Amino acid sequence: MARNKALTPPHFICETCGKETTRLRRDVLDIKYNALGKTPFWNCEECYEKKRTERLLKATELEREASSS
Ligand SMILES: [Zn+2]
Repeated sequence: MARNKALTPPHFICETCGKETTRLRRDVLDIKYNALGKTPFWNCEECYEKKRTERLLKATELEREASSS
């Protein structure tokens, strides 16, 4: 039952969960997200969405803090 790796489509390893995926999303510069100087992470679709949501929540929090002062 050995899988022939040569027959599998190109696949990548998600750097967050370690899952094999054929599609990877690269964490790119977003609004209010400074990724300059950081090594970009390659994430599977799932982790990418999760991270993006977390980042958006964080940005919203920071905005709220800034406007309340
Ligand atoms: Zn992942």
